[in-house]
Amino acid sequence: MTDRGLPELAVNGGPPVREVMLPYARQCVDEADIAAVVAVLQSPWLTTGPAVRAFEEALAATAGVEYAVAVSSGTAALHCMVHALGIGPGDEVVVPAMTFSATANVVVHQGATPVFADVDPETLLMDPDSVAQRVGPRTRAIIAVDYAGQPCDYSRVSEVAQSVGAAVMADGCHALGATADGRPVGSIAHATAFSFHAVKHVAMGEGGAVTTADPAFAAAARSFRNHGIDSDHLQRARDGSWRYDLVDLGLNYRVTDIQAALGLAQLGHLPQWLDRRRALALKYDEALADFVGLSPLGHRPGVEHAYHLYVVRLLLDRWKVDRAAVFVALRAEGIGVNVHYIPVHLLSYYQEHFGYGEGLCPHAETAYESLLTLPLFPCMTDDDVADVVSALIKVYAAYGR
Ligand SMILES: *Cc1c(COP(=O)(O)O)cnc(C)c1O
Repeated sequence: MTDRGLPELAVNGGPPVREVMLPYARQCVDEADIAAVVAVLQSPWLTTGPAVRAFEEALAATAGVEYAVAVSSGTAALHCMVHALGIGPGDEVVVPAMTFSATANVVVHQGATPVFADVDPETLLMDPDSVAQRVGPRTRAIIAVDYAGQPCDYSRVSEVAQSVGAAVMADGCHALGATADGRPVGSIAHATAFSFHAVKHVAMGEGGAVTTADPAFAAAARSFRNHGIDSDHLQRARDGSWRYDLVDLGLNYRVTDIQAALGLAQLGHLPQWLDRRRALALKYDEALADFVGLSPLGHRPGVEHAYHLYVVRLLLDRWKVDRAAVFVALRAEGIGVNVHYIPVHLLSYYQEHFGYGEGLCPHAETAYESLLTLPLFPCMTDDDVADVVSALIKVYAAYGR
């Protein structure tokens, strides 16, 4: 106890709310998932074989599109996307400031320039008005990001894109299973990139995919993942042929059957996991409704949120300390909070190579100072949520005003 009769914060040597850290995200793997991986290890194909095909078919069905091309990461998926679109030197691609750096990095890898748009302060989704200010004759594409799992305003982003003849692409890495006006993410933009990194909705360890309804686009992505070769090993084995041609310059972005088998098994859990993520988010919403120290993000009408992340904004005038101190105190209590994201234009590389800096995207910059991501993953328990809320109340009692 402190001299004010409050429990001593763990950061000051008091007992923590939890002894073992609750992570902000974590994969959930069951026996059936493990058996699926073992079955591949006992099969003749370890990479780009039948499991990859089966995963692609299941993912395309989930995303409500014709084609899915599985690759080695979400970053590889984004890279396939900008390559398939023919983005190159002299081109500009508009991306939101509030995203993981990979969304912008792939544009740079193509020799093009990422142009950062600001976000809506309530939802932290790309603001179509800011996009409208950023587009111009060099704009070839806009990559929308469904931040935290909530689809952005695709109809307004599309209008802006059409006004300059740019394509709409999506970084859907947060949003597998989300819908907007009944349409699943993966089928809304011309092409969508997904990640199957361990913390995402479906875990492969590392993995990703591009979904699209455009057969030529899917073929270009498929070729780019395999060096730019016009066929893969499985096809050549089936055709009994050794011939191939190099029709494009690609990379090795292939994913293994081992990973794809895990992904396919995980995809089977997705409906229940989405329900669970939404139920956990609702628990947070309810438990934090009267908490004066923070506010959850706003919701757009007409969307089904996939809740990759549960993000809150600290109301900083209610605290005697800054976000960094709250972060450290919560971590000390055993709550693995995180921050998504440092606005990408403020990262050193973008400041040094593109001359970007503070003032470019004020809403993203202001929001960043107050952001905290609370733990959320489908195999988290109701007691885990209660621990997060207890820790927030405990830390607020010491640091709030
Ligand atoms: C995870 C993520 C990526 C990158 O995916 P990897 O599989 O880690 O390469 C890209 N964009 C966003 C928004 C992400 O969350």
